[in-house]
Amino acid sequence: MTTAGRFAPSPSGTLHVGNLRTALLAWLFARTTGRTFRIRMENLDRTALGADTRQLADLAALGIDWDEPVIYQTDRLDMYRSVIAELTDAGETFECFCTRREILEAPSAPHAPEGAYPGTCRELTTAQRAEKIAAGRPPAIRLRSAITEFTVIDTQLGEYTGMVDDFVICRGDGTPAYNLAVVVDDAAQGVDQVVRGDDLLSSAPRQAYLATRLGYRPPGYSHVPMVLNDKGIRLSKRDGAITLEDLAAEGVTTTTVLSRLAESLGLADHDEIVDTATLAARFDSASLPRDPWIITPDVWA
Ligand code: GLU
Repeated sequence: MTTAGRFAPSPSGTLHVGNLRTALLAWLFARTTGRTFRIRMENLDRTALGADTRQLADLAALGIDWDEPVIYQTDRLDMYRSVIAELTDAGETFECFCTRREILEAPSAPHAPEGAYPGTCRELTTAQRAEKIAAGRPPAIRLRSAITEFTVIDTQLGEYTGMVDDFVICRGDGTPAYNLAVVVDDAAQGVDQVVRGDDLLSSAPRQAYLATRLGYRPPGYSHVPMVLNDKGIRLSKRDGAITLEDLAAEGVTTTTVLSRLAESLGLADHDEIVDTATLAARFDSASLPRDPWIITPDVWA
């Protein structure tokens, strides 16, 4: 199988310039290393009607292309369920009836890392389990983890060791969990290069560990800095015009947006008109900025 990079947006709204910058980076990493580039719509959670189509149109408008087909996670539920069943049949999972609140209030297990699942449902007896089922709460399924931390190698950040607990692989409502779906999809799509925002760094150890449990080779990671507003907070609607559509309404063209994104990555001069092919020719992952890109409304002026 050819190796691939990917961009995996959640189609819950329109991509903003932070998402677009991450997509551009994922594309640059993949295309400059001879990889195919996949788009995966992570639509197991809340979605907005038509958001996927708008997201693809915005990527294309910037000059980001991808290899078909675009994958939708809701088309792959059988695949996730068969992996969950496989782990469960092998005794590698357990049902968890805890509410979020019970987890927060439970005393943590000895030696358990901060924030880890406290282990409440790990060793339930058959009678205890029957009682919980009778109480009517549908259980989530957690992976029976054999470790407490795992190390990944990140091209931008070096070695990163993070917590791995008995994390949820299937939610109480029967929806496969994000951490499971990502791992199954990356393996199925030949993704060996994961480029994404550094807000997801702390989930990489869990995902890489699950990959090894499933017999997959974990991908390489490149977690890239986020785009923040002038208060140092992640972009949101409150920050005004942050999508291509909003910006266009204010007279900022897509050409200008690409130029500013490129400038923020050290790949273009101010106001230089560029296209993605030019950026690929200039791209060097080793010299990317390591700090977030802070934008103020006047960045587009
Ligand atoms: N769907 C996730 C997001 O939009 C990204 C997941 C990933 O890249 O692994 O934040």
